[in-house]
Amino acid sequence: MKDTGFTTTIVHADLQSPIEHGAIHKPIHTSVQYGFERVEDLVGVFQGTVKGGFNYARQGTPTTAALEAKITRMEDGLGSICFATGMGAITAIFLTLLRAGDHVVASRYVFGNTNSLLATLKNFGVEVTLVDATAVAHVAAAVQPNTRLVFVETIANPATQIADLPAIGALCQAHGLVYVVDNTVTSPWLFRPKTVGASLVINSLTKTIAGHGTALGGAVTDTGCFDWQNYPNIFAAYRQGDARQWGLQQLRKKGLRDMGASLSSEHAHQISVGAETLALRANQTSATALALAQYLEAHPAISRVYYPGLASHPQHALARAHFKAGSWLLSFELRADLDCFAFINRLQLPIKATGLGDTRSLIIPVAPTIFWEAGPAARAAMGIAEGMIRFSVGLEDTADLLADFAQALG
Ligand SMILES: *Cc1c(COP(=O)(O)O)cnc(C)c1O
Repeated sequence: MKDTGFTTTIVHADLQSPIEHGAIHKPIHTSVQYGFERVEDLVGVFQGTVKGGFNYARQGTPTTAALEAKITRMEDGLGSICFATGMGAITAIFLTLLRAGDHVVASRYVFGNTNSLLATLKNFGVEVTLVDATAVAHVAAAVQPNTRLVFVETIANPATQIADLPAIGALCQAHGLVYVVDNTVTSPWLFRPKTVGASLVINSLTKTIAGHGTALGGAVTDTGCFDWQNYPNIFAAYRQGDARQWGLQQLRKKGLRDMGASLSSEHAHQISVGAETLALRANQTSATALALAQYLEAHPAISRVYYPGLASHPQHALARAHFKAGSWLLSFELRADLDCFAFINRLQLPIKATGLGDTRSLIIPVAPTIFWEAGPAARAAMGIAEGMIRFSVGLEDTADLLADFAQALG
């Protein structure tokens, strides 16, 4: 099974270990407790000497473990941990791998809630420097002796800036920094952050991996690229056994067990089913996104289009070199003299809603909604124009979406 393609691997992932009754999906295990015939085995699960055992669902279930194995295969990683949400996964990384007095360099072009979380970190004595991560020089200039971690997104949500991914990977390697890459907008089908030296990869499973807008989830994958033996913040309790597992051990115990943002088995199952069609959906929605971006760029009512698949995008060459396609996230601005709300209201197919990576197209004006709390100064710093509209391309037929845009712009 080692050399099969992405989708073949994912649809057969559950069958790598036997399932009762010949079932071809992992069952949804709803048990909170897991019991044992011999107390020695109960003790062994607690002490980690019985491998793959479960004791209490906050720390994982057979269903979430099956999803973790699937995500690990998708990212070609060493191991993964699932969380209740993408934000749960990001919070676990920051709170378990950083201590007061440490310093983080983060892209200033990140998801709004990540930006808000980075501000919270400052209250706990962690220094944060936000930089324009589209050029490695800005990241390099921000590195200090107490820097521990660099955080970037692949394609930033919503303004589509692309971090200088391979160069930042080389910089982190040279300085022994944990390199965290949020792969949500690209997904492991369009891009594998391991190829640019990422240490930890985040995926909000809520988005295109689950793909149908029915389940929240998040994951952290350790790519195996980082040497945890040199990382000062691993607690003595987790500096045991195979050093490659130290980071995951600490993230699972401190991040998942203690913080408790645990994924439910029901949602893990839905995400698992959604993941089977990730590549097919991402190919289709990326193709539609490119067609729409080209159409909008040529339209006189549109003043700007943000899409990495367009030659006019500032990081188009980087996107072409590293991503299979430009993704299903597209932002644009109407000419300033046109009424943006009236235009959105004229569209018939896209749902006026927040969210990304659904089967249905979703449209939202960014500044008055998801980036409202940030305020105008922070929006400007993140490259978010006041009139920016974010469009998450769904599975509707390309021709139908093009026709809908034509009538609404008409
Ligand atoms: C949505 C999103 C998140 C957060 O994921 P949730 O599952 O909604 O918590 C993190 N990063 C990016 C880039 C996102 O788009």
